Amino acid sequence: MAVKITDTCINCGACIDECPVEAIVDDSENPTGEEIHYVNPDKCVECVGYYDEPACAAACPTEGCIQWDDVVDGLPAAEDRGEKGTPVVED
Ligand code: SF4
Ligand code: SF4
Repeated sequence: MAVKITDTCINCGACIDECPVEAIVDDSENPTGEEIHYVNPDKCVECVGYYDEPACAAACPTEGCIQWDDVVDGLPAAEDRGEKGTPVVED
């Protein structure tokens, strides 16, 4: 699943345009039905090949909102990724 947006998301939209592979959708398109933004795990490349760190998490104003999740087979994973369930950006 790469990175995951958690339920502290405030739907500010800051992350969407930062994603280089258009992996993020807003709450209206979230396939889980939750009223938060959503990362498509089959698209997220953890920004490998684009940026030094996940751009969505760098742009997110909500502390700890975007967390590491499982690595998806066949997709890139950041070398310095953290444990599943830990914030991508530590404040
Ligand atoms: S880590 Fe990068 S590729 Fe994955 S959703 Fe965030 S911005 Fe998109
Ligand atoms: S930047 Fe953070 S709080 Fe804003 S929509 Fe994206 S995940 Fe939610």
